Amino acid sequence: MTRPDILAVAREQVLEQGVGLDEPQVLEVLRLPDDRIEEALALAHEVRMRWCGPAVEVEGIVSIKTGGCPEDCHFCSQSGRFETPVRAVRLDIPGLVQAAKETAATGATEFCLVAAVRGPDARLMEQVRAAVSAIQAEVPINIACSLGILTRDQGEELAQMGVHRYNHNLETARSHFTEVVTTHTWEERFETLQLVRELGMEVCCGGIVGMGETLEQRAEFAGQLATLEPDEVPLNFLDPRPGTPFGDLEPIEAKDALRAIAAFRLALPRTILRFAGGRELTLGDIGTRAGVLGGINAMIVGNYLTTLGRDPREDLELLDELSMPIKALAETI
Ligand code: SF4
Repeated sequence: MTRPDILAVAREQVLEQGVGLDEPQVLEVLRLPDDRIEEALALAHEVRMRWCGPAVEVEGIVSIKTGGCPEDCHFCSQSGRFETPVRAVRLDIPGLVQAAKETAATGATEFCLVAAVRGPDARLMEQVRAAVSAIQAEVPINIACSLGILTRDQGEELAQMGVHRYNHNLETARSHFTEVVTTHTWEERFETLQLVRELGMEVCCGGIVGMGETLEQRAEFAGQLATLEPDEVPLNFLDPRPGTPFGDLEPIEAKDALRAIAAFRLALPRTILRFAGGRELTLGDIGTRAGVLGGINAMIVGNYLTTLGRDPREDLELLDELSMPIKALAETI
């Protein structure tokens, strides 16, 4: 007996019933022939429209501590262990409030404070507290944080400050993690994510595709993310940074990136799926259009921390052209 076609199965299971594809099913999508990629993206788009609606979430991101991180994530130009051209910069509180205002002016609903650390120390927590309260006093925007591995006390403190969402990426499949990071474990990351969920903050958790994982591991990663039921998944494609251990890896091919976008959306029908770093490199100018017509429903405006993204106006004009409204703040609270 021939196996049922995976896209026909996905149409019934994911589109009609809202049940995401499991790991073996994701693998089938990742293995689709080139001439079926368009069909997979079209179905992913239908799923996103059915289960998330047409609105696109726009987010801003700002670094509050850049570079000099003690960890050794092999893709990261902010690790202090590799010779990379990243320089430390710090924004003061008025600078952060200004950045939040500029972000809100684009229609963005989330503003994420990011620090390159293993986890926050007392001084960083103090700075975050000051930044969050200054932004809350002046700017109508949700605040997210990405500060690494948290203790329970730190998680409670962030929740109590009113931090709306916490980002911590699992980065890759559990079975591939030790090829990517040796200074902390996948399980440590997972525990922080469980803590964030338990404390009532939204969970933002994604990773990077194209770090030497097999297709099976890419499917495993999608399955592990789905288990976590994250509110948001930032999907990155490796942008090999000079000086990092992954600096010489080849970026994945555009068609593999498109298969991954479709497959992750079909595994995560209700999640906010965001294009994060690496999309220009992997997908070029067609990338944003292909993504938002293939299951993506969030984007970052402005810089991606250490590499320059596109001009936000181009992305916002594209949403206008496609009649996809920017998600309003009231819908996100
Ligand atoms: S913990 Fe974060 S900032 Fe530090 S090296 Fe890893 S990815 Fe980079």
